[in-house]
Parts: sequence; C-alpha cells; structure tokens
Amino acid sequence: MICLSDNKIWRCNVCNNIHHSVSAPEICPTCKANNAYVEIEKQEAANIMGFKNCENKPDKNGIIAAWKNFTEHNDFILNPDTAHINIILDGVIKNEEKFGLKLCPCRLRDGSRERDLELICPCNFKIQNIWKEKDMCWCGLFVRE
Ligand code: SF4
Ligand SMILES: [Zn+2]
Repeated sequence: MICLSDNKIWRCNVCNNIHHSVSAPEICPTCKANNAYVEIEKQEAANIMGFKNCENKPDKNGIIAAWKNFTEHNDFILNPDTAHINIILDGVIKNEEKFGLKLCPCRLRDGSRERDLELICPCNFKIQNIWKEKDMCWCGLFVRE
C-alpha cells in the first residue's frame, strides 16, 4: 500500500509545475513536456510556490542523485567530470542560501521573479543555443549522451 509519506516532490524543469507523488509524471500536465520532472526538496517547492517558512539543509548527495535520476529516460547525462559537477553544485547551493532558489550559477539574474524562475537548476536548457550547437547546457552540467 502506498502512503502519503512515500510521496516525493517533483518540479517540471520546463514550466516549474510542482507535483507531489510517489513518481514523476511522464508528461507534464501543464506544458506537456516529456520526462521533465526532477525531484526537489520541500523547501525548494515552498520557495517556488512563495511559501517561506520551511527549514532547509542542502543535501549535496541528494541533489546529485536527483540530477542523475532526472537524466533517466532522456537523451542527456550528467557531465562525467565530477569536479565540474561539484563546482556547479556549490554555486547552486550558494544561490539557494542567498536567494532561496537553486539558481543557475553561470547566468545572470535581473532581479525579477520571472527571470529567477527561469534560472532554477535544472533549467529548460534544451531551448538554449548552446544545447543546439554544443550538446550541453550553458554550464556544462548536462551533456548529450
Ligand atoms: S544551464 Fe545547466 S547548470 Fe545552469 S541552470 Fe541550466 S541545467 Fe542548471
Ligand atoms: Zn511543465
């Protein structure tokens, strides 16, 4: 039997839809993207939805595991260079401490919430030119398989 505590929280990396369930939907009900959900923590979901009063301690292994799971059923993988992953991870965590969201460490904010929501890692990187030209996200965290 599945109980509520088995549920995880998932975020669509294309439209920021938040989903609470044991598993991620294959197709986002909001934007119809395929395999776009990445597991996130309660605090991150709360920040995306505008709630501020949850506790959060960044769990580096948990974030990397969520990033790895996110690559399953997709045509990209995490960069095999672990040192590079750790640099991005540290930047993402610093941004979360500062701004309350796991913002991309390589791209510029303009201070607006709309822009911040576009910069949550993993972002919708397949729309980036660098993905089309060099088979990787802007920061090289995800690379084409
Ligand atoms: S460009 Fe790469 S590292 Fe930056 S937010 Fe997007 S997926 Fe994350
Ligand atoms: Zn979506």
